Amino acid sequence: MANSDCLFCRIAAGEIPANVVLTTPDLVAFRDISPQAPTHILIIPRTHVASVSELEAVDAGTMGKLFLAARDLAREEGIDGRGYRMVVNAGPDAGQTVFHIHMHLLGGREMGWPPG
Ligand code: AMP
Ligand code: ZN
Repeated sequence: MANSDCLFCRIAAGEIPANVVLTTPDLVAFRDISPQAPTHILIIPRTHVASVSELEAVDAGTMGKLFLAARDLAREEGIDGRGYRMVVNAGPDAGQTVFHIHMHLLGGREMGWPPG
């Protein structure tokens, strides 16, 4: 279900503009407004789920498709050869700021580890 108070539900519905790079019946992907790497794409399920903590078994298929979309987008962006990182922040300690589950796809530069 869409949540009219949720920024990412509104982007998925086309109510708020974004630089959309992929749409499927289940997913939308768009470029992060504040990119932290040459490629920084957010991939979201159309269904509103606030965070990983709120996921249910029924969401498993969609989350699997989210990984496959990351794989395809990494290829399209030309970052699959050198590598890329996928990040899902869950909750305040992780720095989650938008409470509609999303995967960050980051690449195009070398990444440090551990993350900050
Ligand atoms: P997180 O901290 O994991 O919740 O990530 C939220 C991300 O959403 C941040 O990287 C923001 O830069 C990004 N963001 C916030 N508003 C927008 C927007 N309107 N369009 C695209 N990305 C956004
Ligand atoms: Zn939402």
